[in-house]
Parts: sequence; structure tokens; C-alpha cells
Amino acid sequence: MALARVFGCARVVYNDSLRLREQAHEAGEKISDSELQRRVITHAKLTPEREWLAGVPSVALVQACNDARRAYRNWFDSLSGVRKGRHIGHPVFRRKRGRQSFRLTRNGFSLRGQRLYVAKVGEIAVRWSRPLPSVPSSVTVIRDPDGRYYASFVVDRPATPLPACAREVGVDLGLNRLVVTSDGQIIANPRFLRAKERKLAQAQRGLSRTAKGSANRVKARRRVAVLHRKVRETRLDHAHKIALALVRDNQAVYAEDLAVSGLARTRLAKSVYDAGWAQLLRLISEKAGQYSRTFHRIDRFTPTSQTCSICGTNDGPKPLHVRNWQCQTCATVHDRDVNAARNVLAAGRAERLNACGGTVRPAALLARPGETGTHRGVA
Ligand SMILES: [Zn+2]
Repeated sequence: MALARVFGCARVVYNDSLRLREQAHEAGEKISDSELQRRVITHAKLTPEREWLAGVPSVALVQACNDARRAYRNWFDSLSGVRKGRHIGHPVFRRKRGRQSFRLTRNGFSLRGQRLYVAKVGEIAVRWSRPLPSVPSSVTVIRDPDGRYYASFVVDRPATPLPACAREVGVDLGLNRLVVTSDGQIIANPRFLRAKERKLAQAQRGLSRTAKGSANRVKARRRVAVLHRKVRETRLDHAHKIALALVRDNQAVYAEDLAVSGLARTRLAKSVYDAGWAQLLRLISEKAGQYSRTFHRIDRFTPTSQTCSICGTNDGPKPLHVRNWQCQTCATVHDRDVNAARNVLAAGRAERLNACGGTVRPAALLARPGETGTHRGVA
């Protein structure tokens, strides 16, 4: 299939870009982005080992080159401390097995009726999951390890504001309870998702028990890929629903930026949860834009789970198994997560007002011992 060639070329350019950056770095050589692109695409096409790159849309190669640059930068910035938050691993080379993708901007594709035309590939039949609201500016074509193909379009959607409402909410993200809000609402990871995750874990163990190169291994790998997709789709669907409810019911939603949250500081945060949280925050942000509501991320670390949301006393760190605690100062009994969400709400409001130049008078400003009462005033 002609698409396979594009996947292959995008992967090769991505890997060549990473390798070249690495070599340049080791040799102490500075290499500009345009020079790198010239070497891995333009010049490479002239060599016998890479001349087949000319057979696919060059915009897909340029995008692969850009993706590699971003991955490398993120890692490098994380290493040198420019980028805050959790350490980002070294970018990995793309493998032939596994998820394949390439991205095209306007000059690499068009829509012809119900079909997708890809430059140098031709027309592809598409089963549309929903109609596009406007002309897409880019498309990503993906092949999952389970053999399915997807096309994901980037489209601009005009905002459709919802009527204003007075409610605002802070959310706390967690492991067992996915979301807890400042008004005490608890949204768990649904049972059907957990069941699917368990099945996936089982299948993964099964895969590791099969012999390399055996037919059983091929079957087991396929099974893992299918379950992976199901978990991913279920999680995404669930996240859409939560995000919509939060944005619909509240004028403003506040959350901690994952990079500065307490979660980023624990070893508990497995990549799987991390991805789920990031996805949820992205969806809330998108929907807030769509419905003209506010979504604000707190970008400064605050000890949300240690501070009493009523009186502002920092009561010290609490091990994760402590679900409820009583404030030493004002004797309020707190649900750990609801209290954290209330602090998120207060801190979020404070940051937002500060940014607007207003005066901050939250009921309880997050304060550490010694700072109690020193409200951050007018910005
Ligand atoms: Zn208190």
C-alpha cells in the first residue's frame, strides 16, 4: 500500500534527524534547523540510500523533521532545567513495529467529496466518524499496531458561547479518584475502564510469556494492540464527558498544571495516569475555548494537600493513605482531595485576579507557616 511508504519515509527522516542532532551535539557542532532539514531531506534524496524519499509528499518529511526537533528540544530543555516539571526522557527512535504516523499540512492533502486525497499517494476512502465543521488545516494519518488506520483532522471551530453562570470550581486530579471538585463531587475511574485495564495487563503478561518469533507471539501482540486501543478509546470517551460536564456547569475551572502539581513530585505518577490527566486537562481547555468559559492552570507549586482550605494553615505533609484529616488550628475535618480542590480554586482565583491587576481577597490564601496573612496584593 502506498501509505506504508509514507509511514516508512516519515519514520526514517525522524530517526535520521535525531541521529544527526545527537552526532552534532557529541561533536560540539552547532547545526541550524534549516541546515538539518537540508541534510536529512534535500541532500538525502540525492543519495542512493535515501533516493526513495522523493516518492512521498515532502511536507510529510518536513513535519517528521519538526517532530524530531520538538522531541529533542523538550528532552534537552528538561535536562538543562529550562523546562520545568518532570524529567523528560531521551527521545526514542521510531520503530517499524508500533504506531506509525505522518502529518500533512494544506499543501499535502485535500478532500475530494468523501475521499481524502494525499499527494503522491492518491485518493483514500474514509469512514467518517463525524462531519468536519470547516476545512481542515492539517491531517495526521495513523496506523495502529492492531492494523487500523485513522485520519485525524485539525479544524477551526467557531466558538459557541454558553450562557454565563456564577459557579466556579477547582479540581484535584488523583489516582483512585480521577477528579474531585471543590464542591465535593467525586468522579472515579469507571469500573468498566478498570476492567479493561486489567484485561490489558493480563494480555501483556501473556505476551511476555510467549517465545520470540513464535506464531503465538504474533497473536498475543495483536491481542495486546486491540486491548490497548479499547482502553484508549474508552478513556478518551470518559474524559470527554467529564470535561464537558465541568465546563458546562461552571463559568471557570481551575486545575494545577501537571508540571508543578504535587503529583509531579511523587513516584506514584505512572506514565499511564500522567497521559490520562494531560488528556483530560487538554479537553477541558479545548471545551472552555469552544464554549467561552475560563480554564486556568495554576503554574506555581502550592502545597494544596497540606493546607487547610478554611484557615490557611499548612498542616505539614500527609502520607497518601491519610484520606481525612483534622486541621490543628481551626479543627475542621477535611476530605483530603476535596480540601485540595478548594485550595486549587482559591489559588486559581488569586492567580487570575493578580494577572488582571485586581486585589486578591480569597477566603483562605495558601500560606506556609511564617507567611500566614501575607496576602499577595495588587499585581
Ligand atoms: Zn484550618
